[in-house]
Amino acid sequence: MNLGIEGLTAVVAGASRGIGFACAEALAAEGVRLALCSRDADRIGEAAERLAEKHGVEVRGYAFDLLEPGAGRELVEQACADFGQVDIVVTNSGGPPPGTALDSDREGLLAGIQGNFLSGVEMTQAALPDMRKRHFGRIVHITSVSVKEPIEGLVASNAARPALVGWSKTLAAEVGADGVTLNAVCPGYIATERHHERTNAAAERDGRTPEEVSEEWAASTPMGRHGEPHEVGDVVAFLCSTQASYMTGTAIAVDGGRCRSLL
Ligand code: NAD
Repeated sequence: MNLGIEGLTAVVAGASRGIGFACAEALAAEGVRLALCSRDADRIGEAAERLAEKHGVEVRGYAFDLLEPGAGRELVEQACADFGQVDIVVTNSGGPPPGTALDSDREGLLAGIQGNFLSGVEMTQAALPDMRKRHFGRIVHITSVSVKEPIEGLVASNAARPALVGWSKTLAAEVGADGVTLNAVCPGYIATERHHERTNAAAERDGRTPEEVSEEWAASTPMGRHGEPHEVGDVVAFLCSTQASYMTGTAIAVDGGRCRSLL
């Protein structure tokens, strides 16, 4: 399917690896020009080079720390200045620190709120006025199944990500007639570097091997396996397409059926 977005410009955050990189790759394959960000200039530069070489599109890498208030806005403004306009924004960042609700402290919660809620708000607000003027825009937030079903031991994720979905759904109603759609994608277990770090940490904590932990997590998913990053990236690219013009305010799980809630 041709997604009808060739030549448009996308900002993809948290894109040096993992799900963010896969979203960028799926958009690059459609001929979308890319402004990518992560904290590390060298790593995002390498990712940008790889995608530009493979897909023949213009890709620029920017170093921004989305835990810094205002960085999300600066990223989009910089991309607008360099590319002329921004048509698509994929908000994404690293996961917040783990922890229980009983032990939660201000620092851990604020990391989730800035990194996984407010940075997405900043990016969206920076891109929105111009999108509304041009009557076209696609915003996709990378969140987690935690927005549908809290995950044990990840209280900051369980608290901050639903805030972004609630804010975005509210905005989707406010700008519904302006050609701008806002949707969230909720990954389950996706085999990225971070996912491997999490299985290694759980294995060390519980005195098991990473393979045992990985198999157990896969078995807890109806499809019996972890997802591949491109399986999220492809859904995101579809949500950015011209075909997805009547989808807004949704939160779509890409989780092999892991989340047991009905909606
Ligand atoms: P990852 O750690 O592999 O990649 C995260 C990307 O974000 C990297 O490019 C990293 O450099 C960048 N990044 C991290 N902190 C940043 C910051 N402060 N400022 C700018 N860039 C930053 O993670 P992933 O597995 O690709 O996951 C992406 C998001 O999806 C995370 O928020 C994660 O918690 C969430 N998620 C992942 C899974 C999974 O199974 N992989 C499941 C549910 C939700």
